[in-house]
Amino acid sequence: MTDPLSKLYAAAHSFGASAPELAAFAEMPTAPKPQKLEPRPVPALDKLSKELPTGAASPEGTRLAEAVIAAKDLIQWQLTYDEALVGPDFLRRYGWFELLGPTGHFQSDDLVAFIGYWGPGLRYPWHKHQSREIYAVVDGLAVMERGGAAARDLGPGGTSPHASWQPHALRTEDKPLLALALQVGEGLNDVPVLLPELEAG
Ligand code: ZN
Repeated sequence: MTDPLSKLYAAAHSFGASAPELAAFAEMPTAPKPQKLEPRPVPALDKLSKELPTGAASPEGTRLAEAVIAAKDLIQWQLTYDEALVGPDFLRRYGWFELLGPTGHFQSDDLVAFIGYWGPGLRYPWHKHQSREIYAVVDGLAVMERGGAAARDLGPGGTSPHASWQPHALRTEDKPLLALALQVGEGLNDVPVLLPELEAG
């Protein structure tokens, strides 16, 4: 197993197994089938490699951050959101990719695992989706908000579960964020619905 994407999957799998809340939410398959995706860079990649790993993550988190950086030029990165919705600065310092899932680098029909990077000082606005989800901080720090709950600081290994259609948002402060999220249930791969009315309130 020498290719960077297989190493990346193995590192994500180990990280998933090391976080009890993630392991309880869904078990990532050990050896899913790779799917060939064309690499697609995003502007954030330079910053990501400079800012991560931070040194504050668990050994599994640090290995996962290093594996993302080692594979970054092979990854099909996505931005999803329009500049009109999230602003140009967000799109320069953000990126995510589907590691596992129906359209991921590795194939699964019933579980999505994606990894996202946010630079410091960004706000990911309120959004919701049908699939059930859990976020886990791999490295860095996030302030996670969920509808009906107070905002929480999440450091490495911290998790935030989101029920089907439960609104959630996150922001970064002086640290970047690398997060692994798992999604199951109906609506896998649907684009989240942004909720500007909650943002304004
Ligand atoms: Zn979500």
